[in-house]
Amino acid sequence: MSKGFFNVPKAVNEPVKSYAPGTPEREQVLAAYKKMWNETVDVPLYIGKEEIRTGNTRNLTAPHDHQHVVGTYHLAEKEHVEKAIATALEARKKWANTAWESRAAIFLKAAELIAGPYRAKINAATMIAQSKTIHQAEIDAACELTDFLRFNVEYMTQIYNEQPISDSSVWNRVEHRPLEGFVYAITPFNFTAIAANLPSSAAMMGNVVVWKPSDSQIFSAKIIIDIFKEAGVPDGVINVVYGDPVMVTDTLLASPDFAGIHFTGSTHVFKDLWAKVGANIHNYKTYPRIVGETGGKDFILAHPSANVKQVVTGIVRGAFEFQGQKCSAASRVYIPQSLWPAVKEQLTNDVQSIKMGSPEDLSNFFTAVIHEGSFNKLVSYIEQAKQDSDAEIILGGGYDKSKGWFVEPTVILTTNPKYKTMETELFGPVVTIYIYEDEKWTETLELVDATSEYALTGAIFSQDRYAIEEATTALQNAAGNFYINDKPTGAVVGNQPFGGARASGTNDKAGSILNLLRWVSPRTIKETFIVPEDYRYPFLG
Ligand code: NAD
Repeated sequence: MSKGFFNVPKAVNEPVKSYAPGTPEREQVLAAYKKMWNETVDVPLYIGKEEIRTGNTRNLTAPHDHQHVVGTYHLAEKEHVEKAIATALEARKKWANTAWESRAAIFLKAAELIAGPYRAKINAATMIAQSKTIHQAEIDAACELTDFLRFNVEYMTQIYNEQPISDSSVWNRVEHRPLEGFVYAITPFNFTAIAANLPSSAAMMGNVVVWKPSDSQIFSAKIIIDIFKEAGVPDGVINVVYGDPVMVTDTLLASPDFAGIHFTGSTHVFKDLWAKVGANIHNYKTYPRIVGETGGKDFILAHPSANVKQVVTGIVRGAFEFQGQKCSAASRVYIPQSLWPAVKEQLTNDVQSIKMGSPEDLSNFFTAVIHEGSFNKLVSYIEQAKQDSDAEIILGGGYDKSKGWFVEPTVILTTNPKYKTMETELFGPVVTIYIYEDEKWTETLELVDATSEYALTGAIFSQDRYAIEEATTALQNAAGNFYINDKPTGAVVGNQPFGGARASGTNDKAGSILNLLRWVSPRTIKETFIVPEDYRYPFLG
């Protein structure tokens, strides 16, 4: 039992290192990259204290060099998933009753391990597994992940501190119990930080977890597991399985002890998960929490008053950093006719200057897309645009899969504001531009609002305050993260809580108190000091 009201260290954002030539961090990350590139790792399932090697393995490769094997991982069978459930529930007996300060200490230690001794390693693993440039790896694996852990610890204490009123005769208390069962965390390939945050945020609040990482992120997920172990996450609190996602999911959702899903990934997968939970609802001991952050079709809208250089920089960074594989990446752009000649000229100069290749060459701004499925999908949309009369590829459009899954940064110009690449999430380095007539600004706001099923991020560029106000109101439901004169990517924990609405997710804002509240079930305790001993009220005479 606690014997004090403890304060946690004030959460601060981890500073982003530059990796400029001559800096020690540059040497360290390149050395870590080289070492990991020239070794192979064999990644088991982690169930309780066991590392299980099923022998049914798949290779781990790098998207920018798909024939280069950096390791293997073992696929789970149904029995392993069932074992993960049983192990998690056994671990729950202790973990759910562990003092909050112990849970806080574990995850604060994990944050320090990432920011310090593991920084080069987790960044290098993210460069290899997900083909991130060092800057993209640093803002994700090192900084965002550290921030998630530090800020969530602080938010946890805010939740515990929030208490109801009492008077001298009655003391009211609220405790925030972990969910009664286990949480299923399903994570995407694109952020090492999200992969770690989905299981750890639930675990921090006292829950036990079965975590299924994306097959395309296992190489960097392995480093997360090593860090959590070293930080002291007890065996069985976070169990890790890989394998056929449908089998894993169906097995977990069949358990009466299933208590919640923490998902980030594509919209159609999330909708399927929701339907499966609904179909099983009569089997569960508790109503499960369903938290999912999903797809986006994120916009940049320039007003005629916008600064052209700022707009173009927003497009290039927003659409092409990490090859457009951020849920927040700009993929549909609206430019007024009056600005288009200048925008086109600068955009052409900028896009043509982008250097593409391996992330190990730090002069590259751009690398490969994640896997063959993504490559093929992008190629099909590019080829279709070459055929369509209402679309024209004005920049890029090339691709090459001989060594890695490389698709050039591509700009499509369309005359049809509902053209398919204005509506559909492609999740790659393809941005589509529609030119509107300057006097149709208000109609364009309606168009932006109504074009896509998603509502994740969006940005407007304008020097005119009235136009900014009008857009902020007109687009209030079109994005969960709305940017004024900035690119729509790069949300920072504690600064811009992140999540979208409509088909983009449940908007529980990762890296905020709102998210952590989904992983607890409050119990109110009323303790009466002067206890009535006669049922008759005074009014009865
Ligand atoms: P994905 O949906 O293909 O995979 C996500 C996870 O779901 C993986 O672990 C995968 O193995 C699993 N999965 C796949 N099919 C499944 C099934 N039928 N049943 C159960 N699980 C299944 O997504 P991805 O390609 O890894 O990531 C890209 C997607 O994630 C994009 O749509 C992007 O917009 C979205 N995303 C959203 C956010 C956000 O905060 N809104 C953040 C990152 C990524």
